[in-house]
Amino acid sequence: MRVDKLLYGVRALVVDLDGVVWLGGSPIRENTEALRRLIECGYRVVFLTNNSARSRRAYSLALAELGLEVDPGLVVTSGYSASLWLKRKLGRARVYPVGEEGLVEELVMEGHLVLGYSSSITANAVVVGLDRNLTYGKVEAALAALAKGALFVATNRDHVLPTESGPKPGAGAIVSMLETASRRRIDFDAGKPNPWILEIAMKAAGVQEPREVAVIGDRLDTDVEMARRAGAVPVLVLTGLTREDDIQGLESGNTIIVRNLGELGLC
Ligand SMILES: [Mg+2]
Repeated sequence: MRVDKLLYGVRALVVDLDGVVWLGGSPIRENTEALRRLIECGYRVVFLTNNSARSRRAYSLALAELGLEVDPGLVVTSGYSASLWLKRKLGRARVYPVGEEGLVEELVMEGHLVLGYSSSITANAVVVGLDRNLTYGKVEAALAALAKGALFVATNRDHVLPTESGPKPGAGAIVSMLETASRRRIDFDAGKPNPWILEIAMKAAGVQEPREVAVIGDRLDTDVEMARRAGAVPVLVLTGLTREDDIQGLESGNTIIVRNLGELGLC
């Protein structure tokens, strides 16, 4: 089916960050330029990332540096998603986070109490995200809370994080370690491919029908899978984790596959 036919009726674009906007610290210029044009053309663009290392506010500043002026309200992170889910489930929770600054900021913004590792045992939730400063002590503290029955929330299960120097261990690798240690499975995955996080992005974009949304990302197991589950239009862009070799012989169905976002030709 032709790309313009698949994209007919799409008003909002839900756009991934790692592997689409940048790779590690390097911007992907073909994509950022195309996104700038799409915003100018009137598409509602919401950025949606499984990477909880930075907050929505911090991502909004980083995007502005690339010429993409985006309000923090139009950025959704898996840390924010986890924080909203916890609020619905427990109200104000006592949280032991395994993650970076961005995760802590999103938890605090929703009114949760963030605990340090000496008091982790009193947590009623453990939230696990990407943590590039992970230590054995943090894992131990999380395990102590999980052994006491704290809710076990993953921001996502991404096995790796794509960077300019190759894939690095993702939040999912840390989640798996804690599952092994605690002999528990997570209670909730707040990130892609869970359509729960797409609903947050759709609300931010002001659209109600998944068919009006194209989900743009570099991964089959998260971006494309979530779009399929939710009934949105999946767009796989080959600037990140998925390479041309990975899609040889793949049944693409209604997935649009482009080398970069300049090929979308939406405006
Ligand atoms: Mg990505």
